[in-house]
Amino acid sequence: MSTVISPVTEEVVATVPAASAEETDEALARAQAAFTTWRAVAPGDRARLLRRFATLVDEHIEELAQLEVSNSGHTIGNARWEAGNVRDVLAYYSAAPERLSGQQIPVSGGVAATFHEPLGVVGVIVPWNFPMPIAGWGFAPALAAGNTVVLKPAELTPLTAVRLAELGLDAGLPEGVFTVLPGKGSVVGERFVTHPAVRKICFTGSTEVGRRIMAGCAEQVKRLTLELGGKSANIVFADADLEKAAAAAPTGVFDNAGQDCCARSRLLVQRPVYDRFLGLLEQAVAAFRVTDPADESAEMGPLISAAQRTSVASYVDDAEVAFRGTAPDGKGFWYPPTVLLATSSEERHWREEIFGPVVSVLPFDDEDEAVRLANDTEYGLSGSIWTRDLGRALRVSRGVETGNLSVNSNSSVRYSTPFGGVKQSGLGRELGPDAAAAFTDVKTVFFSSE
Ligand code: NAD
Repeated sequence: MSTVISPVTEEVVATVPAASAEETDEALARAQAAFTTWRAVAPGDRARLLRRFATLVDEHIEELAQLEVSNSGHTIGNARWEAGNVRDVLAYYSAAPERLSGQQIPVSGGVAATFHEPLGVVGVIVPWNFPMPIAGWGFAPALAAGNTVVLKPAELTPLTAVRLAELGLDAGLPEGVFTVLPGKGSVVGERFVTHPAVRKICFTGSTEVGRRIMAGCAEQVKRLTLELGGKSANIVFADADLEKAAAAAPTGVFDNAGQDCCARSRLLVQRPVYDRFLGLLEQAVAAFRVTDPADESAEMGPLISAAQRTSVASYVDDAEVAFRGTAPDGKGFWYPPTVLLATSSEERHWREEIFGPVVSVLPFDDEDEAVRLANDTEYGLSGSIWTRDLGRALRVSRGVETGNLSVNSNSSVRYSTPFGGVKQSGLGRELGPDAAAAFTDVKTVFFSSE
C-alpha cells in the first residue's frame, strides 16, 4: 500500500495498493491475452469504443478534476483542462483506427502491400506533474492502433489514472485491454522494461531515469519514446510587445507551480529593454494568484511534496533574488513565485531543471548571442520568442535547438501537433496525426503474380 498525501493539507487522501513484481507479471499476462482479441476488433468498432470512452470522460470532467486538485494540488482551472485534454485526445485518436491504412506498391513480378501491425502490449510510465494528460497521450493512440496498454502512474499521483481505467471498462473496453497498475518505478516500471511481452515503452519523466530505461530497452530492442526534462528559454527581443510578453511570462514558467517540463525557466531579455521588462514582470508576478487550488481564482497551487520544496529552495538559497510573489503560510507545500538574476550562464539555477516556480533572468545583446545562450544546455524541449520582426522570428526559430517553439506565445502542447524534445529532452514524438502509427510496425507483403 502507498499513501497519497494532499499537497494542500498535508493529510492522507487515499491509500492505494502498490503492485508487486508477481502482480505485474499477472497483469502483463492478461494484457498479452487480451491483445489477441483486441487487435482483431474491426477498426470501426475500436473507434466506437474510444468515442464512448471519450464521452464518459467528458461526463466525469468535474469528478476527475476535483480528484486531481486533492491528489496533486493542481488549480481547479488547470485540472478541468487536463481532464478535458484526455477526452479530446481520445476523440482525436478514435479516428485513427480507420485511417491506419497501408500502401499498395507495384513491384517487379507482382505487387507489395504494407500493413500497420500493432506491436502487442505497450507500457506507459507516467510522472507526477501531469498525471492525466501524459497518461492519455500514451494510452489513446496505443489503443487506437490495436495494442493493449499497461500504465504505471507515479507513486505520488495515482488517483486519476485509476479512475480513468474504470471509465475505460465502463465504456466497454474488454478486460485486460487497458490496465492501470500503481506501484514503484523500481518494481512495476522496471518490469515493463524487462518483460518480453511489452513491445514498446512510453516513458515520461526525468532524464536520469529515461537513460536507464533506454539502456534496458536496448536489451530486447524494445521500441521506446522518451519525454524527459527541460530548461527552456523565453527570448524577449527589444522590438517585442513588452507588455504582452511580460504579462504572459509568469504563466509560462509558474503554471503548475513550475512543475512543467516545458516551463520557460530561462528568461533572456535584450539589454536595451531589460530594466523596463523587469519592471513590467515585477507587476505581473505580484499579481499572480497563489492560493488554495480549489479556489476558482487560483493561478498556482503548492508544490507536490515537502521533498520537492526542499529541492526547489536549494536553488534559491545562494542566488540573487530580484523579486518574489506571495504564497500562503501554514499547512501545504507552498513556495512563492521567484525571479532570480543570473550573473552568468554558468550558475546552477541557470543550468539545471528546478521544477518549481523559479525563473532566472539574463540580458543579451544581439540575435546571435540569444541563440547561443538558448542552445547552451543539454536540454531542448520547448521555448518562446517574442519579436515583431517576422524574419527574426523565423531565423531564431530555426536556430534554437528545441522540439517545440512558440512565437509571441508561451503555449507548448496541442494534441493535433507532434510534441517532444531534442538532445537530452527526449526521443521520438507524441501526439499529432502520426502518433497512432508510431504504435505499429510496418509489415511488407509481396504477392507474386507468377
Ligand atoms: P521520474 O523519472 O522520477 O519518474 C517518472 C516515472 O518513472 C514514475 O512513474 C516513476 O515511478 C517511474 N520510474 C522511476 N524509476 C524507474 C525505473 N527504474 N524503471 C521504470 N520506471 C521508473 O520523474 P518525476 O520526478 O516523476 O517527473 C519529473 C520529471 O519528468 C522532470 O524531469 C520533468 O521534466 C519530466 N517530464 C517531462 C515531460 C515531457 O513531456 N518531456 C513531461 C512531464 C515531466
